[in-house]
Amino acid sequence: MKILLNNDDLNEALYNVRNVGFVPTMGSIHRGHLSLIKRSLNECNRTIVSIFVNPTQFNNKNDFKKYPRNFKNDLIILKKLKIDFVYFPSINDIYSYKRPTKIKIDKKNIILCAKFRKGHFEGVIDVMDRLTGLIRPKKIFMGEKDYQQLYLVRKYLKKHHISKIIGCKTIREKNKLALSSRNLLLSKTQLIKASKLIKNLMNIKKKFKKKDNFNNILYYKKKELSKLYNVKIEYLEFRNIKNLKLSNKLKNSKIFLAYYLDKVRLIDNF
Ligand code: AMP
Repeated sequence: MKILLNNDDLNEALYNVRNVGFVPTMGSIHRGHLSLIKRSLNECNRTIVSIFVNPTQFNNKNDFKKYPRNFKNDLIILKKLKIDFVYFPSINDIYSYKRPTKIKIDKKNIILCAKFRKGHFEGVIDVMDRLTGLIRPKKIFMGEKDYQQLYLVRKYLKKHHISKIIGCKTIREKNKLALSSRNLLLSKTQLIKASKLIKNLMNIKKKFKKKDNFNNILYYKKKELSKLYNVKIEYLEFRNIKNLKLSNKLKNSKIFLAYYLDKVRLIDNF
């Protein structure tokens, strides 16, 4: 496994290399990331994993500061996987040029996280556009855990790059909690609470019947669960996974959720 510390290392390593699979991450590697990496190893000749905590996608300075960073341990985990390259760019490597036009999210897509985290997806799309331009991968592997991110990045990259985005399913703990680097910021009690909340919602979804008004049910559930678990639920909505519109059909639809456990914000969809 070669460690690429800047764009010169990157260009040298990828010179004349084809069929590259790319897994973008912000580090603190967990089994969710590993599932994307394994998929890339299976489908591509070469696999590159990037570790870059992208400042422009944090709408809150403190959140950026507190984001878990475990680069040494990440390298130990990645070395065991037989990936070809780990790319650790600096801020200057990524933001070496000013983009001619600003990235803008359509009004109709200012929903879910885009509504509550101003500028977040603009930052994600910007960094993904830059990384894709630098690496020029055949395939990019991204998790459904961050479904709206997958949806918006795919939409943008389709128009500007030839790389194909592969959506990969969410990996969960036995207690149903989705793996996330942010889970490292939670206490044991908070982790148990999060698991109970998710299980509760998964059970509600199982009981949904064709003719129910799903978003109405979730409106009342949001109030009930906020009280029951003493959490701040930012949104709890049933949406169509093809266009992210509010849904009144069971088919192709999922529950989308964002909530705060004290100061830690978690998202999920199922
Ligand atoms: P992050 O390091 O949190 O930016 O995540 C990097 C990539 O891993 C993104 O495409 C995420 O959607 C994906 N990912 C994060 N958690 C999970 C999970 N539990 N299951 C599957 N993919 C995940």
